[in-house]
Amino acid sequence: MAKKLTIALAGNPNSGKTSIFNNLTGARQHVGNWPGVTVEKKEGKCKYNGYEIKVIDLPGTYSLTAYSIEEVVARDFVIKERPDVVVDIVDASNLQRNLYLTTQFKELGAKVVIALNMSDLAEKNRINIDVKKMSQLLGAMVVPTVGHKNKGMKELLDAVVKTAENKTGLEDHPIVYGKEVDPEVEKIQGIISKDSNLVIQYSPRWLAIKLLEDDREVIKVLEASPVWQDIRSAVTKSQNHIKGHIGDDAETLIADQRYGFIAGLTAEAVQKPELERLSVSDKIDKVITNRVLGLPIFLLFMYGLLKFTFSGSEFMVGWFESFFGWLGTAAAAVIPEGIFQSFIVDGIIGGVGGVLGFFPLVLFLFLGIAILEDSGYMARGVFVMDRIMHLFGLHGKSFLPLLIGMGCTVPALMASRTLESRKDRLITMLVNGFIICGAKVPIYALFIGAFFFKSGATVFFLFYIIGIAFAVLMAKLFRVFLLPGEAAPFVMELPPYRVPTIKGLLIHMWERGWMYLRKAGTVIVAVAIIIWLGFTFPQEPEYSKDYEAMTAQIEKTYALQVAPIAAGFGTGADKIEENKIFAKFAGVDSHFSASVEEGELEYAALEKEREVSFAKFKKPYPLQAGLYTQHKALTSAKDEQLAEIENAMAAEQMEKSYAGRVGHAIAPFFKPLGFDWRSSIALLAGFAAKEVVVATYGTLYSMGETDPEEVKPLREAIQKDPSWTPLRAFTFMIFCLLYIPCFVATVVFHKEAGSWKWTGFLILYTTALAWVVSFIVYQGGMALGLG
Ligand code: GDP
Ligand code: MG
Repeated sequence: MAKKLTIALAGNPNSGKTSIFNNLTGARQHVGNWPGVTVEKKEGKCKYNGYEIKVIDLPGTYSLTAYSIEEVVARDFVIKERPDVVVDIVDASNLQRNLYLTTQFKELGAKVVIALNMSDLAEKNRINIDVKKMSQLLGAMVVPTVGHKNKGMKELLDAVVKTAENKTGLEDHPIVYGKEVDPEVEKIQGIISKDSNLVIQYSPRWLAIKLLEDDREVIKVLEASPVWQDIRSAVTKSQNHIKGHIGDDAETLIADQRYGFIAGLTAEAVQKPELERLSVSDKIDKVITNRVLGLPIFLLFMYGLLKFTFSGSEFMVGWFESFFGWLGTAAAAVIPEGIFQSFIVDGIIGGVGGVLGFFPLVLFLFLGIAILEDSGYMARGVFVMDRIMHLFGLHGKSFLPLLIGMGCTVPALMASRTLESRKDRLITMLVNGFIICGAKVPIYALFIGAFFFKSGATVFFLFYIIGIAFAVLMAKLFRVFLLPGEAAPFVMELPPYRVPTIKGLLIHMWERGWMYLRKAGTVIVAVAIIIWLGFTFPQEPEYSKDYEAMTAQIEKTYALQVAPIAAGFGTGADKIEENKIFAKFAGVDSHFSASVEEGELEYAALEKEREVSFAKFKKPYPLQAGLYTQHKALTSAKDEQLAEIENAMAAEQMEKSYAGRVGHAIAPFFKPLGFDWRSSIALLAGFAAKEVVVATYGTLYSMGETDPEEVKPLREAIQKDPSWTPLRAFTFMIFCLLYIPCFVATVVFHKEAGSWKWTGFLILYTTALAWVVSFIVYQGGMALGLG
């Protein structure tokens, strides 16, 4: 007995359905009406390869909404009768419009074979379709046919049988609706799945999509469900959420995504001559996804993004810095000097301030990414990258997690889930840490600000590129040696361009910024405290020198030197008058020194002004002026000496603290890279969270400060520290770029990868790579005399 198959022919009106139906079934036809409606229904039979195939001609439709009887009939047949295969007949000369229906059959979960009909017309119009690519991207077999000439029918039936037997060897790729719609679909899907009667009959995902589209037929069906109330409130919530974020309603957005899918598909698989009139969006796409121009344009956008991040946030970074400076000062003023003051000012305010000081930077970065995403450019960027990613054994979709990795590795690793194949996913996750995440930005801001400020954006950009280069290079190595295979093909959606809504942008910026902050608020404060504890105890180590005696000695010498001046001062005619003069000199000095600090732009001008004012006072009192100057010189010399001792003492205390000992213990490991023990501790702490690298330096350096009234920006402290050179800073940034992601990311990696083997591998290979590359950079730099 022959095996039986039922297939449904579907397609837009005039795509050639009837022609193909006749070709397949010949005279064996039966014409009637669909039950209950006056829509013609044709059925026929044919035999192929031991199969008896029943062929149903569905009404011609452009879509599968519930707006017309034809559409409802077509989709009800597919849902209720479940034909083994839907043969979707598309007009090859008008692919974009015809594929819209195809996307909806895919949504329905039907097994589809594409008859690429009118392929003669397409050829005549010099439309070049890469059939193999197209079928890979669609996850469905594609067969060129010429309906009215009876060409391609055998191949079509062959594809039908293969598809029915699940022997196409193609991977199915569900259509994704973007980061706004997909999560909502999943939510609604989850509720629908609670009704087991529904699940038996319908694909929950399809129902969810249709509900978001306000499909009245689907609503009718679901109204009978016991969970309808829950479903309805979830749908309303999701619709409002989407409307609020994007400004368009869900139905429009979903249609846009389908067209985006098609645009991406045709951009990859179809080459057309340029006779037709292009829409504005098509014209823009022609340029920015151009094979030659696409990449430079993409890089330009990325550069612009970084420039925006840095220049745009400058004013706010200033606010934050002054705020934490002020907070430190205020706290120091209120809390009595001692261990508790140190805890608050250095441990908490210093540590957290170091991180939060960069929060504006992170916010601007996320804002920039949100603008690129919401406007539709990002999808093009990913599209452009897709070609390049393929060269390295990844595909464009891997670029998305890498991009999100610019925000935070944690959501980036989670975003790798969109990759269907486990190998692709693993490779993408293994290299994700090389992308500079938001938490690493402070490290670069700090060192670039300190040593490469003049070309800040360029150097920062360079590090992004180095990171991407390593990601891509390692991915290739992994693809070749560790996880061999082909990257699965897929369609990169090209959604229409739209003007982002302010609300949507702010929400996206805030959501991601908040994630960063939450980490800063919890892990980082905790780690900052641990680090502070580590550095503060033991409080009184055994010092190598008697600092107290040295201090006393300086004070004694000073007192001796100052004595004659004081004596000389008293010899004037009027002692009270002299004191007033002295106070005036001091007043002039402090007035000028308070307004501007040495090194600032206005300093020279003010210095001159000061001298003029000083000379004015000096004239009537030459003797006193000389004594004042002497006195001042002696005092500042003494202060400097005392500060030196205090610094040395603080440094030694740090070095002999618990953390310092650990730092020393692992320092030899970093010595060939040019890092001192401080950096080795900072890197160790960086495993907790990358933000802590900066926080650690903050704690380290602000504790060495003599004057608790002034919490100077960390940047300056590092600039002044002679153990840093531009080469060392550069090497350090390289090491930070490559070494192990923070422990939160590592934990997420472990969960996603699902095995200790891979987690262990991640930890080992990143650390080894970071060391080797840093070694080469540092030693190479030294050899070239750059140290
Ligand atoms: P339907 O509306 O989808 O049933 O389409 P028909 O089968 O009625 O075809 C519409 C018109 O297109 C007819 O004039 C067919 O002769 C013509 N046609 C069908 N297939 C092809 C094809 O592959 N190439 C060309 N050039 N014309 C075709
Ligand atoms: Mg017809």
